[in-house]
Amino acid sequence: MKLIKRFNLVFAVLLFFSLLLFSQLQAQNLATNSANITLENIPQELLYPEYFKLHDMLLWENIHKELIFKIRFLTGRRPQKDYISCHKFQRRISRAIDRAAAENKLTFSVVDNKLLFDKDSGFEKILSPQPTLSNKSCNYHSLGDINKGCVLYCDYHGIDFESNFFKQNRSKLEIYKPLILPEDIAEFIIFSPSIIILIIILFLLTKKKKIQIAK
Ligand SMILES: [Zn+2]
Repeated sequence: MKLIKRFNLVFAVLLFFSLLLFSQLQAQNLATNSANITLENIPQELLYPEYFKLHDMLLWENIHKELIFKIRFLTGRRPQKDYISCHKFQRRISRAIDRAAAENKLTFSVVDNKLLFDKDSGFEKILSPQPTLSNKSCNYHSLGDINKGCVLYCDYHGIDFESNFFKQNRSKLEIYKPLILPEDIAEFIIFSPSIIILIIILFLLTKKKKIQIAK
């Protein structure tokens, strides 16, 4: 009986270390994929996509949109920016491709709109029902070896901010972003009256204290 218990313990320890080694190898694979992709071979559409180029411009139209978005957010409604559904879609596709890669089911090496949305592309074997293109501006591509972790991006909306690739390369991917954005101006417009009121209250309180001390 003691021997069986000891065997179970040894088996559990071996299983634990095997799982640890496996997860480290998976992480290394992902890191290798990221390492193969340098700033020089990252497409311009991914570095600073059209959607953000247009929305980051300091124009009254963009500031106005941000003001409406923030007011809706602060009043409890749940507004959603246009790029969110595209990034969610990328997450769903990447997960499906990673699953297929782990099961050695991949029959393609690159991802594009033809593969994702053409009925005869065979993508339905990876993700069923096959997705449909909901936003005509979206044009998807893969980057690097999809067997080592699928990195997807859209020409118009860029890469998913929740993706490991974005998190690992954030500093490289945000070099073109302007220092001041329309959302910063919108925040300033919304919160500046409350800051001014706070300063006036503090000023009045300190003045009142000085008068009391003088008495
Ligand atoms: Zn898109």
